[in-house]
Amino acid sequence: MAYDFDLFTIGAGSGGVAASRRAARYGARVAIAEHSRVGGTCVIRGCVPKKLLVYAAHFADEAEDAAGFGWRMSPPVHSWPGLIAAKNAEITRLEGVYRTMLREAGAGLIEGTAKLIDAHTVEVAGKRHTAANILLAIGGHPVTPKIPGIEYVISSNEALDLPALPRNVLIVGGGYIAVEFAGIFAGLGAQVQMVIRGDELLNGFDDDIRVHLAREMRARGIVIHTRTEIASIEKEREGFNLATKAGGELSADCVMYATGRRPNTTGMGLAELGIALDPESGAIKVDDWSRTSVPNVYAIGDATDMLNLTPTAIAEGRALAETLFNHNPISARLEVVPTAVFSNPTIGAVGLTEREARAAHATIDIYRTLFRPLKATLSGRDEKTLMKLIVDRASDKVLGAHMIGPDAPEIIGGLAVALTCGATKKQFDRTIGIHPTASEEFVTLRTKVPEPKAKAAE
Ligand code: NDP
Repeated sequence: MAYDFDLFTIGAGSGGVAASRRAARYGARVAIAEHSRVGGTCVIRGCVPKKLLVYAAHFADEAEDAAGFGWRMSPPVHSWPGLIAAKNAEITRLEGVYRTMLREAGAGLIEGTAKLIDAHTVEVAGKRHTAANILLAIGGHPVTPKIPGIEYVISSNEALDLPALPRNVLIVGGGYIAVEFAGIFAGLGAQVQMVIRGDELLNGFDDDIRVHLAREMRARGIVIHTRTEIASIEKEREGFNLATKAGGELSADCVMYATGRRPNTTGMGLAELGIALDPESGAIKVDDWSRTSVPNVYAIGDATDMLNLTPTAIAEGRALAETLFNHNPISARLEVVPTAVFSNPTIGAVGLTEREARAAHATIDIYRTLFRPLKATLSGRDEKTLMKLIVDRASDKVLGAHMIGPDAPEIIGGLAVALTCGATKKQFDRTIGIHPTASEEFVTLRTKVPEPKAKAAE
């Protein structure tokens, strides 16, 4: 049967656009449907606008630090509306770039909400289109627990467009989004409280990094309420009053929830078509080739709720286009995926955490350094950088590299190449560092951290 398209992509975010462009480049007839702005979560309401706000917040530190280097200036004044307007202009420009890239690649943009009719038919704004292959790159959305007063809270979507900087923000959650926005709001001058249900921030990251982050955030005035859960939220004449499950009370004039995201998999006919979804998260189940349970229907990115990172969605999209349209089968599974958190201070991580490495390997060696960055000697800022390497003793292979401190994402991005190539500790040791930088510490780590048992016996 002749279809209208070879590939019909639903969702013009990072993954969908990458797959569509690559497929079109190989001559496939491609359409891509989008019901919101082109660019998706990352470009419109995630990574990019967030990072612009992170830069804005870091200027506060820079201005303070400058005094130690001889600068004298009157206290700087920040304009939140000015920042938001500049950020919005940049996002609009980027959206235009994405639209141009799709057009130039020859992928047709169809604006409207898409619904699956069958395994080869998609309906958008009342019009049906047929395709040999359908790609679901439909992303996710923030989720909040159902508690009384939850209608008063904002998510990261609204946080990026607030009309004014709140004076006193309370953020519930301790994941990527929560710690990043805590750094943004605090850097720009707001009082920030965080509410987490566990003991530490950033579940899943290396424990040393988690402990260090909390210490640094507290040193910047952020209050972290651990083992605390919110039972209800009441609107007061000014701001909000929050009751905790333990019977305590907290107040704030803006409450933000960053309690995770959920795939956008309801209301578009996926379950009706027999596409298997995870019963708990609603994520689309896929195999290593991004295949769903229905032949010729594929899914990538946050809709599959695996790594939920822009570069992985792009890699999955490109792998699919290579497989389907370039006789170049590439599996979407990725082994070494670095990640960064744009908290203040920033975090970069690649490979296994110490906990994961201990579980998977018989014996590991840990190398760790904690030092005051050179810049802090003159700025007087009370901050330390922490770096850690995790090495498999049997093979000498570096299993994980973790860092918290200025430029951590940039440094770990480079080290990810080494870990992808399977570098050993010996090869790290042979590498010449650049002096004076923080990155040279990663190639000059010589002293092993005593083993937990030996440590206990000290
Ligand atoms: P995360 O999954 O990272 O964190 C969710 C946080 O909310 C956790 O601290 C979790 O606690 C807590 N939580 C969950 N449910 C509740 C609840 N009912 N009550 C109280 N606390 C709760 O989600 P985010 O929303 O921060 O981010 C979503 C995803 O977006 C991330 O996983 C990441 O993949 C991606 N992202 C990546 C970024 C980057 O690469 N820099 C930046 C931003 C987002 P607990 O730990 O106890 O479960």
